[in-house]
Amino acid sequence: MSWEENVRKVVPYVAGEQPRKPDIIKLNTNECPYPPAPGVGKAAAQMDPGALRLYPDPDTAILAEALAEYYHVKPEQVFVGVGSDDVLSMAFMTFFNSDRPVLFPDVTYSFYDVWAEVHRIPYKTCPLDENWHIRPEDYRQPNGGVIFPNPNAPTGLMESLETVEEIIRTNRDSVVIVDEAYVDFGGVSALGLVEKYDNLLVVQTFSKSRAMAGMRIGFCVGNEKLIRYLNDVKFSFNSYTMNLPAQLLGAEAVRDEAYFKEITGRIIATRERVKGELKKLGFSFPDSRANFIFATHPAIPAKEIFRALREADIYVRHWDKPRISEYLRITIGTDEQMDTLLAFLRDYVAGVM
Ligand code: PMP
Repeated sequence: MSWEENVRKVVPYVAGEQPRKPDIIKLNTNECPYPPAPGVGKAAAQMDPGALRLYPDPDTAILAEALAEYYHVKPEQVFVGVGSDDVLSMAFMTFFNSDRPVLFPDVTYSFYDVWAEVHRIPYKTCPLDENWHIRPEDYRQPNGGVIFPNPNAPTGLMESLETVEEIIRTNRDSVVIVDEAYVDFGGVSALGLVEKYDNLLVVQTFSKSRAMAGMRIGFCVGNEKLIRYLNDVKFSFNSYTMNLPAQLLGAEAVRDEAYFKEITGRIIATRERVKGELKKLGFSFPDSRANFIFATHPAIPAKEIFRALREADIYVRHWDKPRISEYLRITIGTDEQMDTLLAFLRDYVAGVM
């Protein structure tokens, strides 16, 4: 017998490229094109390196309290992690611990099946309808948990709060995780439902709307009991997941609501303008409420457009996967970046057609 037989083998999640080239237009990983709130930079400049001598607060109180105040919940209802990927992975491990399958859409964030595999959790996907919407009735079958993003990724489509609540209400014996990574770009949040449903966990991130993907901060809000169970698992792995700078700078970001509203508003305005321009070029797409557009062209294969863009140093995301291989996911950048993309596409489409 070889030791290799006993290795936990997984097919890992493939993150979008982070090219080291300067001057590229990077629209492939849904980062924010604007810098974090001004207070974040100021606090970073004033940070005392001597403070790094000590372990950080394992309870991330500064950040949990800032989030609790902002979202009008108790600090005991907030759990913070190293990006929402960390929060989600912990939540899979904590709450999806049944022989019954965890349910999620067939077209969705492609990390869900990877966490299910790595944590040995059975799962089953429910096909989105022909307009890319979730069918809530699919989530009425026996299950060991439910998870979906709202707005969904990579489609960008939002489900109404009624649909979300229906799924939570019809699954009172399972934990339902709503992944709201993109909710700040015009979506509706389920946060207001956490008081009503003790089986609801709402997950959000600082990586998109708070412009801090590089800092790795995610969080979730739920009933105090859910958060206690999550903490028990986290403290069984690593007490100090959140480093000190992340805690301090994250709290600064939360305090500046005006800036947050300004940059998310700007991204929404750019997105709506780009939708109009893409339509003129023949593209179609679900009506995104996220910081990206999931677009397809009737006459040009997505892979060809992807390659041509890449050669022009414009990076977008493409998956060679069932149902979505003819689509490109284009992150909303600055107006200037989007104008460069549109100018390229205008020439490219004219050249091909
Ligand atoms: N959920 C969804 C739906 C996402 O698209 C992403 C971004 N890849 C994440 C969670 C994770 O983001 P982060 O770990 O940066 O918070």
